[in-house]
Amino acid sequence: MSQHWSDLDHQYIWHPYSERYSQSPIYPIEKAEGVYLTLADGRELIDGMSSWWSAIHGYNHPVMNQALKTQIDQFSHIMFGGLTHQPACLLAEKLIEITPESLKHVFFIDSGSVAVEVSMKMAIQYWFALKQPQKQKFITIRKGYHGDTFGAMSVCDPTTGMHSLFNKTLPQQIFVDAVQSTFDDNALVDADLKKMEQALAQNHQNIAAIILEPIVQGAGRMYFYSAEYLNQLKPLAEKFNVLLIFDEIATGFGRTGELFAMNHTHITPDIVCLGKSLTAGYMTLAATLTTDKIADTISNNPPQAFMHGPTFMANPLACVAALTSIDLLLAKPWQKQIKQLSQWLKSGLFPCVELPQVKEIRVLGAIGVVELKFSVSLVDIQSLFVNQGVWVRPFGRLVYLMPPFIINENDIKKLTSIVYQIVSKLKKPTHSE
Ligand code: PMP
Repeated sequence: MSQHWSDLDHQYIWHPYSERYSQSPIYPIEKAEGVYLTLADGRELIDGMSSWWSAIHGYNHPVMNQALKTQIDQFSHIMFGGLTHQPACLLAEKLIEITPESLKHVFFIDSGSVAVEVSMKMAIQYWFALKQPQKQKFITIRKGYHGDTFGAMSVCDPTTGMHSLFNKTLPQQIFVDAVQSTFDDNALVDADLKKMEQALAQNHQNIAAIILEPIVQGAGRMYFYSAEYLNQLKPLAEKFNVLLIFDEIATGFGRTGELFAMNHTHITPDIVCLGKSLTAGYMTLAATLTTDKIADTISNNPPQAFMHGPTFMANPLACVAALTSIDLLLAKPWQKQIKQLSQWLKSGLFPCVELPQVKEIRVLGAIGVVELKFSVSLVDIQSLFVNQGVWVRPFGRLVYLMPPFIINENDIKKLTSIVYQIVSKLKKPTHSE
């Protein structure tokens, strides 16, 4: 028999954060429909990951498919320099409509990391326009994650952020300890804000902005922190004359139970990054939104132009995917759906807390996290999940679920009970913490 196409993978392809000739299995997918991924050998897996926070409506959605087919028959891409199109205009209007009132300007880019780059460039260019070109640094909290490009890497946690190898090339930013105040009690541990205040007091002349993931620190630690911290951070940013950037790339579009994580607070940042589920996992697209203050200051001062403009900016297919996905989400009682999903995740995962392997269970919106007392080997644990018919991809000490919003009770029960079973059989590796 001739070679199966998936053999070419090992021959030629690199995967995310993987060795080139890794021996860990790579599973070929033949079909994806609803919440099910079908492997080439016919096995069906329930998707617990939404393809890294993105596929909120599941796969192969008929309404999404049709919208994209219609757009393909018109045009798939045009350059955005000097030209525009309906999908970009309507999407920009929609994003302005559903985000807090002061956000009024949209810059489209092609990935989350680049949205973060653009947000940082906007902040620097804002201060440049105000004749404060020395304000080029960023301050953030430890354990954060903002992407894989150089600016974004520089604000990821310097040790756990997976980028320490590049430390000598990366711009040196300012880090304060991760927030300890938890989401659930919404109380504020005094030290959290004090540390930020001290660092701002010492460095504010050179700081362009505070950047952080609001409420949920994702890839860095899957931790949910207090909205009150953010409420009090905004006046602090104003006092020290620094901007506030929220990276909502993972949290946007309902995942935390609010449409955006910033809706858990009563403040609005100066700049917001959106991505991932913006297009429900259909196409790569991201957007950086900002206020009149930032956009007008940049535009009214030399060089006036905002200095960024990628080839695939505002790709029409991606904009149609985003528009259609947002309409689909808002047309249903999504808040009720996430509440229900949260309840199912809680009832399925909370029993894990009695296991000796488990340190803590956390659930917020459609995110469920089992934090273990030790790190697990991805190679070992991945195949256990696949053999049980689910797609879950843990990292470090974290086994977590963020399924498509359309998942039903039976499938969530299966997902969570398999998490329980597999975690209960894990043995602490002798070399691990
Ligand atoms: N910011 C956050 C909070 C993220 O979770 C991610 C992706 N994991 C990014 C930025 C980077 O997005 P992308 O992978 O699309 O570049």
